[in-house]
Amino acid sequence: MKTDLFASRHIGIRENDLPHMFQYIGVENLEQLMYETIPDDIRLKEPLDLDTAMSEHEFLSHIQELGEKNKVFKSYIGLGYHESLLPSVIKRNILENPGWYTAYTPYQAEVAQGRLEALLNFQTMVCDLTGMELANASLLDESTAAAEAMTMLFDLRSRDQKKQEVLKFFVSEDVLPQTLAVLKTRSKPLNIELVVGSYEDFTFGDDFYGALLQYPGKYGQIHDLSTFIAKANEKDIKVAVAADLMSLVMLTPPGEFGADVVVGTTQRFGIPLGYGGPHAAYFATRDAFKRSIPGRIIGRTKDLDGKPALRMALQTREQHIKRDKATSNICTAQVLLAVMAGMYAVYHGPKGLQYIAGKIHRSAHTLSESLKAMGVEQLNDQYFDTLLIKADTSLIKPVAEKAGVNFLYIDGETLSVAVNEATSLKDVQHIIGIFSEALGKDGVEVNELSAGLSFSEAIKRKSAFLENEIFNTYHSETELMRYMKKLERKDLALNHSMISLGSCTMKLNAASEMLPLSMARWANIHPFAPVEQAEGYQYILKKLADDLSVITGFAGTSLQPNSGAQGEYAGLMTIRAYHESRGEAHRDVCLIPASAHGTNPASAVMAGMKVVVTKTDQNGNIDLKDLEEKVEKHSENLAALMVTYPSTHGVFESSIRKITQMIHDHGGQVYMDGANMNAQVGLTNPATIGADVCHLNLHKTFAIPHGGGGPGVGPICVAEQLVPFLPGNPVISTGGEKAIEAISAAPWGSSLVCLISYGYIKMLGVNGLTNATKMAILNANYIKGRLANKFDVLYTGERGRAAHEMIIDCRPFKQKGIEVTDIAKRLMDYGFHAPTVSFPVAGTLMIEPTESESLDELDRFCDAMLAIRSEIDAGSEDAPNPVLKNAPHTLDMLTSNDWDFPYSREEAAYPLPYVQENKFWPTVRRVDEAYGDRNLICTCAPIEAYAEA
Ligand SMILES: *Cc1c(COP(=O)(O)O)cnc(C)c1O
Repeated sequence: MKTDLFASRHIGIRENDLPHMFQYIGVENLEQLMYETIPDDIRLKEPLDLDTAMSEHEFLSHIQELGEKNKVFKSYIGLGYHESLLPSVIKRNILENPGWYTAYTPYQAEVAQGRLEALLNFQTMVCDLTGMELANASLLDESTAAAEAMTMLFDLRSRDQKKQEVLKFFVSEDVLPQTLAVLKTRSKPLNIELVVGSYEDFTFGDDFYGALLQYPGKYGQIHDLSTFIAKANEKDIKVAVAADLMSLVMLTPPGEFGADVVVGTTQRFGIPLGYGGPHAAYFATRDAFKRSIPGRIIGRTKDLDGKPALRMALQTREQHIKRDKATSNICTAQVLLAVMAGMYAVYHGPKGLQYIAGKIHRSAHTLSESLKAMGVEQLNDQYFDTLLIKADTSLIKPVAEKAGVNFLYIDGETLSVAVNEATSLKDVQHIIGIFSEALGKDGVEVNELSAGLSFSEAIKRKSAFLENEIFNTYHSETELMRYMKKLERKDLALNHSMISLGSCTMKLNAASEMLPLSMARWANIHPFAPVEQAEGYQYILKKLADDLSVITGFAGTSLQPNSGAQGEYAGLMTIRAYHESRGEAHRDVCLIPASAHGTNPASAVMAGMKVVVTKTDQNGNIDLKDLEEKVEKHSENLAALMVTYPSTHGVFESSIRKITQMIHDHGGQVYMDGANMNAQVGLTNPATIGADVCHLNLHKTFAIPHGGGGPGVGPICVAEQLVPFLPGNPVISTGGEKAIEAISAAPWGSSLVCLISYGYIKMLGVNGLTNATKMAILNANYIKGRLANKFDVLYTGERGRAAHEMIIDCRPFKQKGIEVTDIAKRLMDYGFHAPTVSFPVAGTLMIEPTESESLDELDRFCDAMLAIRSEIDAGSEDAPNPVLKNAPHTLDMLTSNDWDFPYSREEAAYPLPYVQENKFWPTVRRVDEAYGDRNLICTCAPIEAYAEA
């Protein structure tokens, strides 16, 4: 074995496994399988024009060298991004720990209680600090969270307002520029008119429904917003406030002066800048709006024994159920980052946070006083951490840059300086020195931070926060380390067993791909730092974008969207802009097959399109006749078709070229949902099938870990005609010549984790990437072969093959009294996470093994499925096998003195020999979904509740 060949580490199948697998499948070789799987007319004839593979060792030196090209300045730029200190204990035990970062979204609550608790902590932290009643478990960034607030309040507008053609939304001129840009993008398709102005002298007309304010303002001034909010409330206008979470430790939280929604980022709670992300945004609101809130919410419930348990609450709001009527298109969010920010609060507790916020404030105050003493004018009369300074910036900037310092230069005579958790007394002195040198003034010496308060007593926070035991217990490293381990042990992640989630591609997230995230040269760069300082990043982002263009066959790529769903929205917005540019703005119909992922219709609605659903035929393919009818009917107004390829049914439809041609003939554009790209890379591509734009889920196909539900990166790759419209950014120039406004806050989205996909492509190289695809297809067809006689595979291609995943039908087992959920839960007893349940067809499981699994693991999974099949057969409709109905079995059940079940403990917990040797114990019994939704509680229990339990 070539030990320097990364492909042989990434791919699980060994050369000598192949004959056995071929035999099972009934092919002579891999090429025959590819021939039988992928239609001839879309096969690529040439290898991709990509580099050959680097070894892991070479990659690590390469990334180190590139890192040297990033100049890590002290950035006091602010604008929603601040250097912060990630406690090493969290870095090592969460960020660098596959037990946390390789977990899936916690749909299977019984094997996810750890991260569910961590997210409940996050929600509690957000509610406490903002003074609100309900928070979700993160959104993608502050700017999109603000846009979600704008749209949620829009959905809540009055009946009278619903009759109006155009409604207005007030935006304070003090809102962050990137947020304003995202609001512009998002308001347009909904016919919301943004009115930007000063909140102080503003009077509302009747056509306003809501407003957004920033607290403190973008240049640091703290406004007293209570009068404005009271005025708005009188007119029944709802107000959202974008607030800096750290400042809320010291300032009256918006919830206490009447805000309806509070949003922001939790980046300063220990999350690296990462040149823009990923960071977890937060969204908090009133309990009354709980059915309108976007994103995932973690709530309490009970399990079958009545014991407390957690799970995702109120899912009926979400895109996977409500589709075009969903409250948002959010699917992947920022779970790993939310977990980390929550742990930061657990570790520091209320007193620690007061110390940190107090120190930040005192640094700002000390700096302000010193500058004043030097005769430099500071314009903010009330501030937390950011000063607005009047000085000739042409004098300051060169001196500051020479000293390795970035300020925010607003115009020729104003700049702002935002200090942060990492700012030391020495740094304050350093800044003073820069001003003294640049302006030719005598500096002052500071020996300690001054204790003064730079805002009025009236604005000062008086309410307590984080009083819950969770935030007052784990303050030593040993204690926190054990708490995190305790939670980690409750969760099943890829470091235990295969997670065969169809459509979600849970492949290896290699250590060498992950290591660069911990390097200071990559972690500590502000997204609005001058691009010359980020040469290493610029190189990688460009190379990654170019490589993705090559892989998809397209002309251009934008890395800005922070999830697949955001990519869908971005792609549809470029299609909209394209039609508009040709005088065809009326084209607004979006055709979407019935089997599409829920984000597709939800994104189309956000892009202002009318969704027309097309039928699926018996073989799971797009019903050509129905499509043709609808295309003709909507020919005049056809904007786009959204199509997933290979289809969500796991099939390479052979009519795809005919379909894309039909759309083009009628003036529409083709959007390809790239979630299934793992079946395409190197073998075919979206350009070849005739698509115009696709998103890729780098957190599926390109090895970014799922993080328990995020982060994600959802770049869009587009054909020539759409390149001019790729999204821009208001602070740093990026995007096409006629760029649509921003999709995300940061110019290149979540740059830090783009390093992972860059490493994946570099280390696999052109051959490894193509081989990975072939192996993914091989593994899926092997499982299909092994399960064939016992489970019906719903759909296959014309030559009988699955693509990289397959759907098995569990509906016939109803005759034995068994539901698909019973199988999903029973798999936990066998040590496996369930495949995708009931998507895209209710009552089915969709299995996707990926290329990273070994033959042994595939066999263990198949053995488990076949054993479960025998268990199913042992029951009947009236008397279904109780071992399935009671699954999963916990250690509590097994060790209890009472065992009333009609099967043995061994059958319950050790159903196959391999289980015994590496047992995973679900920590709660089956959770009660309905109970939790009826009794919604989304924060940590008060201390009394613990006493009861
Ligand atoms: C995962 C997925 C999406 C959504 O991607 P997110 O990153 O979760 O927003 C869209 N379509 C399909 C088919 C998917 O599997």
